[in-house]
Amino acid sequence: MVDTYRHKGMRKKLVESIRLKGITNQNILDAINNIPRHIFLDSSFLEFAYDDKPFPIGSGQTISQPYTVAFQTDILDVSKGHKVLEIGSGSGYQACVLEELGAKVFSIERQRKLFHKTKEFVSTLGYRVKFFYGDGNDGVPAFAPYDRILITAAAPEISDNLIKQLKPGGKLVVPLGAGDVQTMLRITKTINNELVEERFGSFRFVPMLKDKAND
Ligand code: SAH
Repeated sequence: MVDTYRHKGMRKKLVESIRLKGITNQNILDAINNIPRHIFLDSSFLEFAYDDKPFPIGSGQTISQPYTVAFQTDILDVSKGHKVLEIGSGSGYQACVLEELGAKVFSIERQRKLFHKTKEFVSTLGYRVKFFYGDGNDGVPAFAPYDRILITAAAPEISDNLIKQLKPGGKLVVPLGAGDVQTMLRITKTINNELVEERFGSFRFVPMLKDKAND
């Protein structure tokens, strides 16, 4: 799928609207400007790819709203070289934003179909994200510890495994809550292994599921 001048123009407008909503981190705005979001969506959504809205991506899942991607990435506070674990690969879009910031990205997805589709698709774009199939509540211990952990599905609770896989000095961002609306929470693990919590308002995510899918 091609990236036309028209798509680039729409993307610039999207970036501008995200800036107006309060995201001023230029590296994040540049990442969104660099990634052709429309190729992560089914072609039937091409016309809407640069609206600041979530979209269905198959297997009953959605690609997050661009503003939400920018917001989570902003409070995750990613630096070049960070090892970042993402829970909920979905379309792979958020993982690519993290890689654009210079992070080494590990991403886990529990829907097998989506995992295969996204792993293949993202590698054709030239990104090096390492994708895993499994329950994100287990984390990915083989590559732990992580500087940053980002949960991109609504979590009713935070598993101890994920806290264990976070480096001292590391940060974890999660939309926390079992209902329709979640609170965006950032947990910082201090160098003394204490946990500090900060809250950043309300968001809506698809739920994080505990059991494996039947696919
Ligand atoms: N970050 C994605 C959007 C994520 S939507 C993107 O950029 O497109 C949430 C994703 O979390 C869905 O793909 C869903 O299948 C996945 N998910 C739900 N429960 C999960 C679990 N327990 N472990 C891993 N992934 C999970």
